[in-house]
Amino acid sequence: MIELTDIKKIYNKGSANEFEALKNISFSVDDGEMIAVIGKSGAGKSTLLHILACIDSYEDGEYRIDGELVKNLSEKKLADIRNRKIGLVMQDFALVDDFSCIENVLLPLDFAKNKVKSSEKKKSALDALASVGMDSMSAKRTNRLSGGQKQRVAIARAIVNNPSLILADEPTGALDTVTSAEIMELFHKLHQKGKTVIIVTHDTGIAEQCDRIIEISDGKIKCE
Ligand code: ADP
Repeated sequence: MIELTDIKKIYNKGSANEFEALKNISFSVDDGEMIAVIGKSGAGKSTLLHILACIDSYEDGEYRIDGELVKNLSEKKLADIRNRKIGLVMQDFALVDDFSCIENVLLPLDFAKNKVKSSEKKKSALDALASVGMDSMSAKRTNRLSGGQKQRVAIARAIVNNPSLILADEPTGALDTVTSAEIMELFHKLHQKGKTVIIVTHDTGIAEQCDRIIEISDGKIKCE
């Protein structure tokens, strides 16, 4: 599903503070794998995830998703790939705080190109909320929720378009141990349903729950 070949990412290219954050990163991920990306702070994990999520570009190499080369694409095309194929979960949840749970989950459906009836969108959003145990709170504003509940809503939003790839950046980083375990259960459920899951974490306990661990150090793959 994913193929990275010699990916190089340079921040501030051409300026005095030019910095090579990723140095010839190559690996591939099969459909349905659950992978952890680990490494110290500053190793390049988030940079890599942003490239995988098609929200950041890279200077050299090739990134293919389902065979499609993600390079020099228009913003419209990138948005289309993100919308169809990728669900993104962030450490800080990235919800619209004064929206309700269902309004947050409806957002990706409103961005989608296809014209779907609003009753169908609402059903999809409620189904996504139900799959993370949050359907009974659909009308509640997300700024009234606990961290764990917010992350459940963020996961519902990530899966509402039925993407095949779920990318998560430190999804349990802001949560206590018990809540982290509950959120990891949701990722395991998605994996069991056949989704490809890639989790960036510095928590070895979480990494060990994945099929494979990719360790990054100073922008390079240390071990795979
Ligand atoms: P990690 O997620 O492993 O903590 P990051 O991918 O966030 O690491 O960052 C990798 C390196 O790239 C760090 O040295 C960081 O300072 C640098 N970096 C990240 N984003 C930028 C940016 N927008 N401009 C310049 N340097 C950046």
